[in-house]
Amino acid sequence: MATRDMAGDSYPPDPSGERVRSVLVVGGGSAGWMAATMLATELPRGTEVRLVESEAIGTVGVGEATIPPIKKFNRAIGLDERAFMKATMGTFKFGVEFRDWGRPGDRYLHQFGRTGREIDPQVKLHHWWLLGRRAGHPDYPAWEDIFVARAAARADRFALPDKDPRSPLGRYTYAYQFDAHLYAGHLRTIAETRGVARVEGRISAAERAPDTGHVAAVVLKDGRRLEADLFVDCSGFRSLLLGGELGEPFEDWNRWIPSDRALAVPSERTAPLTPYTRASAHAVGWQWRIPLQHRTGNGHVFASAFSSESEAEQRLLANLDGKALDTPRLIRFATGMRRRHWVGNVVAVGLAAGFLEPVESTSIHLVQTTLERLIELFPTRRMDRVLRDRFNALTEQEWVRVRDFIIAHYHLCRREDSEFWRAMQAMTVPDSLAEVLELWRARGVLAIDGGHLFQLGSWSSVLIGQHFEPEGVHPLTAAADPAVIAREICRIAAEVETAAHALPPHDEFVAQYCPADLAEAA
Ligand SMILES: Cc1cc2nc3c(=O)[nH]c(=O)nc-3n(C[C@H](O)[C@H](O)[C@H](O)COP(=O)(O)OP(=O)(O)OC[C@H]3O[C@@H](n4cnc5c(N)ncnc54)[C@H](O)[C@@H]3O)c2cc1C
Repeated sequence: MATRDMAGDSYPPDPSGERVRSVLVVGGGSAGWMAATMLATELPRGTEVRLVESEAIGTVGVGEATIPPIKKFNRAIGLDERAFMKATMGTFKFGVEFRDWGRPGDRYLHQFGRTGREIDPQVKLHHWWLLGRRAGHPDYPAWEDIFVARAAARADRFALPDKDPRSPLGRYTYAYQFDAHLYAGHLRTIAETRGVARVEGRISAAERAPDTGHVAAVVLKDGRRLEADLFVDCSGFRSLLLGGELGEPFEDWNRWIPSDRALAVPSERTAPLTPYTRASAHAVGWQWRIPLQHRTGNGHVFASAFSSESEAEQRLLANLDGKALDTPRLIRFATGMRRRHWVGNVVAVGLAAGFLEPVESTSIHLVQTTLERLIELFPTRRMDRVLRDRFNALTEQEWVRVRDFIIAHYHLCRREDSEFWRAMQAMTVPDSLAEVLELWRARGVLAIDGGHLFQLGSWSSVLIGQHFEPEGVHPLTAAADPAVIAREICRIAAEVETAAHALPPHDEFVAQYCPADLAEAA
């Protein structure tokens, strides 16, 4: 007997008779090839996976910094870390170093991982750190100084973490920095060996099924028709199917994140190879620096309402570490997302679904989680509405949480040197973020649940790094002597410093573990 839901849709007990037989991935940027590789790996044999892309249109070509969960995606598709890092000129990343975001001259690392150790299993370490500071110790460590990742990043050292989580060197994690074109190319090779067929061509139209309104086929400029049961729209900012054909509205988050332009330029590699991405605040917006084996990727994200392109270009070029290897390329974007990411038989992934500006390197991650969710909630040819609704609800929740974390960076910036930053400080943040900031300020408690991508280590780095500290300490620390706690915090900082210096220089680690063929890159 088929099950019926409240809207009257029925679901057969055995969905295998209605299984999806063909999927068309529309677009071959990072999102498209991640989707194709994942689908080719996970879908049952006999399901046809094709990808259509247009070389003439090309890809957005940026997106070089990632966050640690990408390791899970790589494992799921069976990617060999060394081979992939060699192929993509990759380097390792402990986090993002923020320069000049608090007050000009400030630096802090949003590091991936945990503090050197805890003092108390119940009361979080930042409360003890705040208490110990009251002792007025002249060399009292900064909050970031008790994270081993920070100590290692400062010394430009890196190795894979110790498998023993009790060791200080087992208390950090890492992500990758890589060349986005090479990443897509590497995945393409894997996807094609797993049976994905690539079609070269420019899509000029879509056809709909008259009964369901679902997309039945896309039509290429030369007249070829590509049919499928399910379409994964990875067409980039164009959002050909979800935004274009199906007209799903775009929710613009410009009122909180007004950045809408980036100028990107590669520069010569400089030594040492830093094991972190850098994000330096400017009078308007900020600039990224991503060190790769063959070059450094740079870009300046800014808001066109506050700065001209020529001013932005001057800021970008004045802040490069090495010689520019090209002229800066302008990318226009809007921060926000399509209201629903799955409509009918179209699921949008990557820039076709929306974009959150890259200060926390989250876009490739959102591609990954969207694909994981699609696999978990994979439909039959009926495009089961219950699955779709759950997918859309979870996706929206995830994007809003990441959005709030990004808004916090802008809103809590302490710079007063421009109209842009003054506007950021004066903005009314979304209620969901206001609640988090209020509780943190009042009691040092982080109102973030376990499902949030960014947890206490991340939020505390950013909040304390930008001088947004709790006003009081936890009541359960009341009986402790600040001087005793200060000595313990100093010991943790010394332990992580010693541990970090046992790691090899990042350059040496990369040269030994995953050296790229630099002659090929030249
Ligand atoms: C300034 C900037 C900086 C970024 N930095 C980071 C970062 O550090 N970390 C991170 O995780 N992410 C970052 N991103 C995001 C990241 O670049 C993207 O999320 C990722 O590359 C996925 O892009 P995409 O595949 O969705 O789109 P694209 O790369 O634009 O690919 C779109 C594809 O669709 C095809 N296509 C389009 N129209 C047609 C048509 N009519 N016919 C046929 N094919 C078509 C194109 O040919 C192309 O293959 C950044 C993005 C920007 C804009």
